[in-house]
Amino acid sequence: MQILVTGGTGYIGSHTVVELQNQGYDVVIVDNLSNSQIEVLDNIEKITGIRPAFEQFDLSERDKTDAFFKKYNNISAIIHFAAFKAVGESVQKSLEYYRNNLVSLMNLLEGMKKYSVPHMVFSSSCTVYGQPDVLPVTEETPRKEAESPYGNTKAICEDIMRDYCKSNEDINCIALRYFNPIGAHETALIGELPVGVPNNLVPFITQTAAGLREELSIFGDNYNTEDGTAVRDYINVVDLAKAHVVAIDRMLKEKQKANYEYFNVGTGEGYSVMQLVKAFIEVNKVDLKYKVVGRRSGDIEKIWADTTYGNKELGWKAEKTIEETLSSAWKWEKKVRGL
Ligand code: UDP
Repeated sequence: MQILVTGGTGYIGSHTVVELQNQGYDVVIVDNLSNSQIEVLDNIEKITGIRPAFEQFDLSERDKTDAFFKKYNNISAIIHFAAFKAVGESVQKSLEYYRNNLVSLMNLLEGMKKYSVPHMVFSSSCTVYGQPDVLPVTEETPRKEAESPYGNTKAICEDIMRDYCKSNEDINCIALRYFNPIGAHETALIGELPVGVPNNLVPFITQTAAGLREELSIFGDNYNTEDGTAVRDYINVVDLAKAHVVAIDRMLKEKQKANYEYFNVGTGEGYSVMQLVKAFIEVNKVDLKYKVVGRRSGDIEKIWADTTYGNKELGWKAEKTIEETLSSAWKWEKKVRGL
């Protein structure tokens, strides 16, 4: 039984491949390496003792995707991570984002039908909720207009799956709406490797602590939150990876309540930027220069998940503490920088 993991050399993808292999699944990765390195395969192998099969091509190419399904005719399910994900860049390159993220999904759905691959787990995001009126957000919370083309690709991909599942009873999809994935594998063999200046908070913190960046800018301290800085639900990447394995099991064991489902994947707890920064300094006993600057445009004030439904239905719960997670992030950064 083979699982196709698209984007399997990327940040969340690589951690998920490890967890799938730990559970005895055979994995084939498709990745065009546009935002990841081939060496990740070596490190996956170091952790699990198994080297996953690998094919390098772009899933937005229909013919290549079709040829892939012809060659790999024993695939039971797909986990689809491969997508562009930089919010800011998506504003400048909206067409590239729509083409890449939507067409890849459509090519995969087409292949699923043609080659009888019934199951797909899809990387969605809590960005589909925008700034919710009521917190925490449940799966019933209405979606809001996306703030960026990137966010819009997630909403549209969800709609594509919903509509396709409606008219194809033999196709099953689960969208996992991630909150903020952070941290790295405990071995520090895989983790997040942003290209250039990181946009996300934790890579910026770890790079600043490692001396690559002068100072962390905290975007805004006049939000309506306890300490004025924005609040997010930070989920450990290994916990998140395990949620994908559980979603695959749910489909293979035919436990789905409908052939299109979606779940929040978070911890259920909100941390402010300032709380996270202070926790990082304390846990890792490092200095970190930071200053408060103006708000970042497009940022929401606060969001965290109600995980009740996902916990019950998937039988999955985030387990790692924020301390463990921030320690793993720092261990990874030190390893990468040779510190
Ligand atoms: N943030 C910050 N400084 C940075 C990067 C991020 O203060 O250098 C804040 C950002 O404004 C948000 C939170 O950290 O409130 C999480 O940002 P991130 O980009 O990691 O995730 P988002 O929730 O925006 O997708």
